[in-house]
Amino acid sequence: MESSINSSTETQAKTGIETGARTKAKAVPEAQAETETEVDAEVEAEAEARTTAVAETRTAATFVFNPSRVYFEPRALEYPLGKKIYEQALSAGLPILMAGSHNRITGLPGSTPRRRFLEAKRTLVVGVRRGTTFQTSRPSADYALPLATGCPGHCHYCYLNTNLSTRPYVRIYVNLAEILDIADRYARERAPRLTYFDGSCTSDPVAVEHWSHALRTAIEHFARSEFGRFRFVTKFAAVDPLLGLAHNGHTRIRFSVNTRTVARQFEKAVPPVSARLDAAARVALAGYPLGFHISPVIIYDGWKKEYADLLEKIRARLPRTTPENDLRFEIVAHRFTPRAKQTILEVYPTTALEMNESQRKWKWGQFGYGKYVYGGETYKEITRFFTEHLRRLFPEATLDYIV
Ligand code: SF4
Repeated sequence: MESSINSSTETQAKTGIETGARTKAKAVPEAQAETETEVDAEVEAEAEARTTAVAETRTAATFVFNPSRVYFEPRALEYPLGKKIYEQALSAGLPILMAGSHNRITGLPGSTPRRRFLEAKRTLVVGVRRGTTFQTSRPSADYALPLATGCPGHCHYCYLNTNLSTRPYVRIYVNLAEILDIADRYARERAPRLTYFDGSCTSDPVAVEHWSHALRTAIEHFARSEFGRFRFVTKFAAVDPLLGLAHNGHTRIRFSVNTRTVARQFEKAVPPVSARLDAAARVALAGYPLGFHISPVIIYDGWKKEYADLLEKIRARLPRTTPENDLRFEIVAHRFTPRAKQTILEVYPTTALEMNESQRKWKWGQFGYGKYVYGGETYKEITRFFTEHLRRLFPEATLDYIV
């Protein structure tokens, strides 16, 4: 197949020349990185207390959501899936509480905003998704498919720090059939064009799949769809229950990966990159369309060498892909909103994440709020770097976008 790695990337940052934006993140020598105490150990210890209690050895299965409590909307218990999740929570011995609305959970423990944030991330809320429309989700898809909201991970840079900062608890929805009916309506309206739905716009759905069963349901649903296609991105590796599904090539599974320095410093309570690459290899063997989401690209001393190493590692783990894998890459440079910065500094006060407004360019986003992005020259450097390296290492792949 002729290479489709090219420069068909967003031109948003081609004005407003800025240079020299560098993060406080420091390249971590490999030996040191292996032995170094994790940044913000308290947060990590709290976030992972449940998984380490379950197993000393971290495997893909242990890096999934084990909540401390489960809230149910009464209506959720009218659905078979709601009843099933209730039984699951009961047999796990978890405290079960009722809530009037999945959008408003009150009374979580914690005397400070930080404590409440951490407790909220340990809280599963089971509800009924209301509403008959979806948000758009460009450039990754046409629409966001709302299968879950919130994530148990603690990535410092997480985009959810903007839109879920006051309600970070993890919500799953039991009316999956109704949600998928809405997707079908959108797909019918746009036919014969294909319509793409992204199931990871407000969550990492793999982390909660053993509770929600939403990915299984959606993959099997879209396998039968003529004009609808499904995709999601994950940092989790517990994909094995999805491998044997009849996906019909209609679902693309993408893995979010990053350099050793970024993962070590900023990606907490998620599996290591090596486990994500192993999971990607299993997904490729299962014949799914496959993708890598390199996000966020963070600029620090030595970033080019480490991102080159990361791409080499992906290539080594996937020495070959098949046409049915239709390998794709998405590259997203780091950005932050004023609201996210406030939350990040409150919840991860020792973070080394660079959020210096004076070194960034302001840009208005599609959802009516602005963000600070890397400026023109830095963005051009990122574009050049990834275009050249992907073309060389992955001639069979497509570069979907760099933003
Ligand atoms: S895994 Fe993804 S959704 Fe979860 S905290 Fe990390 S960046 Fe956010």
